Amino acid sequence: MHAHKRSSFSLVLSITLVGALFIHSNHSFAAIESKQPDESRSVVIRDITIVNVKTGELEPNQTVVTSGNQIVEIDDSNNIEIPDGATVIPATGKYLIPGLWDMHVHLMDDFKYAFPLLLANGVTGVRDMATELKNIADWKKEVEDNKPAPRITYSGSTLIQPQPDALPHLYPVTSEKSARDAVRLMKKHGAESIKVYSFLPRHLYKYIIDEARKLNMKVGGHLPIPVRAEEASRMGKRSFEHLDGLFIATSHEEDKLLKLANKNPDEHLNFELEAFKTYDAQKANKLFKLFKKYGTYQVPTLITYLQVVSPLDKELAPYVPEHYWADWEKAKKEMSVYKELIQKSLQNHENSKKMIKRMNEAGVPIMTGTDATFGIPNHVYGKSVHEELRLLVASGLTPLEALQAATLTPAKFMDREQELGTIEEDKLADMVILHDNPLDQIENTERIYGVVMNGTYYGKGELDEAVKTVINK
Ligand SMILES: [Zn+2]
Repeated sequence: MHAHKRSSFSLVLSITLVGALFIHSNHSFAAIESKQPDESRSVVIRDITIVNVKTGELEPNQTVVTSGNQIVEIDDSNNIEIPDGATVIPATGKYLIPGLWDMHVHLMDDFKYAFPLLLANGVTGVRDMATELKNIADWKKEVEDNKPAPRITYSGSTLIQPQPDALPHLYPVTSEKSARDAVRLMKKHGAESIKVYSFLPRHLYKYIIDEARKLNMKVGGHLPIPVRAEEASRMGKRSFEHLDGLFIATSHEEDKLLKLANKNPDEHLNFELEAFKTYDAQKANKLFKLFKKYGTYQVPTLITYLQVVSPLDKELAPYVPEHYWADWEKAKKEMSVYKELIQKSLQNHENSKKMIKRMNEAGVPIMTGTDATFGIPNHVYGKSVHEELRLLVASGLTPLEALQAATLTPAKFMDREQELGTIEEDKLADMVILHDNPLDQIENTERIYGVVMNGTYYGKGELDEAVKTVINK
């Protein structure tokens, strides 16, 4: 969404306008990833219980051995020989899960805060969903300088019709040529996906999808208002963000409400709220089947709306740089007068939880995403992933399904199931050691003991220290 330099009020409006397009690709993503440690470097996690996020089974008394950035051996602790010089982590009574992914963040130029915050929260991978192109080189440099960082896949700038308030992470397109050129430009900057925005005219959307398909890029982002959800899924939009347009799409008043939304795009939220009242289960199930068939993933970002309208959470102060904290206090004061909008947003949040429950029951793939940016008050990189997990469970997902939304499902979405998403031999060594079983209580994902990022082990104390250093409070 549009995060920077806007009041909370306009933030809410922009969220209602969000949506992403992803086109099918069989190629593995070329993300920004930290250098792999030497193969002689080894981490051994001893006597831990592995949480199998595929089956939900617990595998007790396991020892996990890494070499370089890979998991090379997993076995009963009795059968394992510990390599010379290995970093050994005794972990009796603890639980091991794959590193978490946030599939919708905005790192922008806040990556120096974001990287340590993400790692301290067990987030070992992010999908950035719109940035100013010059930021990409800065992220790369930070990673190449060997600063600890999660894996990053990204979409570059958001493709959108020219806007009066041109924000730096937006890239205007006006014609077939400029649409195709824009896709190629994002590719040139290393983007694996393309993000589009709500106000895109239908013909430009088609050119973007077509060009992206040629370049083997996925298309995600907001659902353009002139395009039906069903049509977008068939055309190859691979991820929907923020449940954008889905209430209208599942209403038996879809035609009428779409017409109104096209005429008054700024009032999109009102039409979505209206649409919820005329939900058509049969129609919805047809759409959900289509999402399954075409691999249209949902990134509901439940936490985003809630953060915008919730009172300032003072406990977050230690994780937020001073100048942002001042902005947050101001934004919350401004926001408080928009009582009706707050109430509507909370209603939309409740409706969204119901929509997620329905989609989950229908087998639609759901991924955790937060829209994390310091541009939204209460939104702290990494921490918000755990809040999103809790909201997914509150919407009716089991703790296992919520965990899958942050591990296995993103791995599938990115066509990287061979190397990510579960704790298995030959996969990348991105793992989180927890004090308690996350399947008992999803809150336990936040009770972190240590993190292995690309084969390097960081204790929680060390990770928290790194956060303190950058936030500098
Ligand atoms: Zn966003």
